[in-house]
Amino acid sequence: MRLVVVGAGVSGLAAAHRAVERARERGRPLTLTVLEGADRVGGTIQTEYRDGFLVECGPDSFLSEKPWALALCRRLGVEDRLIRTDDRFRRTFVVHRGRLHPLPDGFQLLAPTRLWPLVSSRLFSWPGKLRMAGDLVLPRGGDPDESLGAFVRRRLGREALERVAQPLVAGIYTADPDELSLRATMPRFLEMERRERSVILALWRAARRAPAQHAGASGARWSLFVTFARGMEDLVHTLAARLPAGAVRLKEHVTGVAREDGRWRIATAGGVAHEADALVLAPEAHQAARMLRYVDPGLAHLLEEIPYASSGTVSLAYRRSDVRHPLDGFGFVVPHVERRPIIACTFSSVKYVGRAPEGHVLLRVFVGGALNEAVLEGDDATLVQTARDQIGPLLGITAEPLFARVARHARAMPQYHVGHSARAQAIEQAAGRHPGLRLVGGAYRGVGIADCVRSGEEAAETLLEDAERERAGR
Ligand SMILES: Cc1cc2nc3c(=O)[nH]c(=O)nc-3n(C[C@H](O)[C@H](O)[C@H](O)COP(=O)(O)OP(=O)(O)OC[C@H]3O[C@@H](n4cnc5c(N)ncnc54)[C@H](O)[C@@H]3O)c2cc1C
Repeated sequence: MRLVVVGAGVSGLAAAHRAVERARERGRPLTLTVLEGADRVGGTIQTEYRDGFLVECGPDSFLSEKPWALALCRRLGVEDRLIRTDDRFRRTFVVHRGRLHPLPDGFQLLAPTRLWPLVSSRLFSWPGKLRMAGDLVLPRGGDPDESLGAFVRRRLGREALERVAQPLVAGIYTADPDELSLRATMPRFLEMERRERSVILALWRAARRAPAQHAGASGARWSLFVTFARGMEDLVHTLAARLPAGAVRLKEHVTGVAREDGRWRIATAGGVAHEADALVLAPEAHQAARMLRYVDPGLAHLLEEIPYASSGTVSLAYRRSDVRHPLDGFGFVVPHVERRPIIACTFSSVKYVGRAPEGHVLLRVFVGGALNEAVLEGDDATLVQTARDQIGPLLGITAEPLFARVARHARAMPQYHVGHSARAQAIEQAAGRHPGLRLVGGAYRGVGIADCVRSGEEAAETLLEDAERERAGR
């Protein structure tokens, strides 16, 4: 089989790697080409090393709870290169009226699970706390595809949404919670309401069951988030290195694809045309839409409809002595209602070892996202100044940073708005009508790296199965 994968982000590389694995297991010939428009592999994943610091320009970790990325690391034989978070400092702060307040212990993304930390927290008002308790008695309600904002407001009240759910969710999806589909992003909360009515009670019960579940599971070894000691790029470099020599072609920008005589033709900006029996498209959905516009305008339109948000990170390196705050957490989030131009800050060198040399700290400030995109119009120097102006008073920093690194991610984060699940299904159905075509990546069924790995690997597996079936049927 001749397979072309477009896009060498983690989704495309996972697809390519799985295809090679499967073809080898079955003793089938495979000719593989991975076409990447940029001059490097990894897409959003990018690690840089500078003066003893390790700077992540994109993702800094992946979720171990979703098994696919961890399983891939095991198959690659690189699990021993992973590191866990330093859980002595496993807590998050929330900015409220100019100060950092710890998120109450047991707060699980949208709802509290422990009474005393909530009662004693100064992050919420008394009416706000009482309104959260309303979840215990409120009846079921809402639409099957409700926005996350509407759901939290309905069950737990405005403060829970504005002070916790919105900023935490912005940190993951860089999204507006009033647009974000709960069903497409965190269906477990919908399921909790359907099954147990109260989200708080459902979380309480789940927390009581959790220790028993974890006893024999991989969760015991790994923290919720894990990363590579040498940075996230280790994953994509390892994947690329396991592909046949010469398979990955950089600076090959794909301009369009066509179906001719039962095969795929892939045109690149350099004028080279590639032919394939099977085609995996792993760029952002808006790029896939451009590639498919003549093959299937309807499908291209569905892809184009997936909105994307832009974001940026500003990494700042300091001497430890220049930061007065104890940095006793993984970082802080900034609620939109605080009207600040940043959305979060990770204490990178506290969260993971090896991110800063002894006696130094690395902080990473997030800007942009669906609710704050205008900030990105500023040049790099303005973004650095904005980040410094914001974190300075909160963390007690007046010194100049040793260096600053700005990374921009334009239209990189797909937004799973209300209606996304139906759209993703329509895309799958439309793509399914084209033999040998698969669309993979964070745009469809999960934005995180673990989901991207799953989507790439599933595509490779089903393409090879289809090829086997076709061979058997001949
Ligand atoms: C700032 C930020 C932080 C994040 N943090 C985390 C995190 O901590 N944990 C987590 O799990 N997830 C995180 N994510 C999400 C995660 O990074 C992405 O979901 C994932 O990396 C997407 O991988 P992908 O391969 O699907 O897409 P991409 O990484 O976008 O790769 C797509 C590739 O396709 C290429 N391409 C595009 N068009 C063409 C074309 N015409 N021709 C050829 N090639 C093309 C691009 O150059 C790119 O290399 C974060 C995202 C951002 C933006």
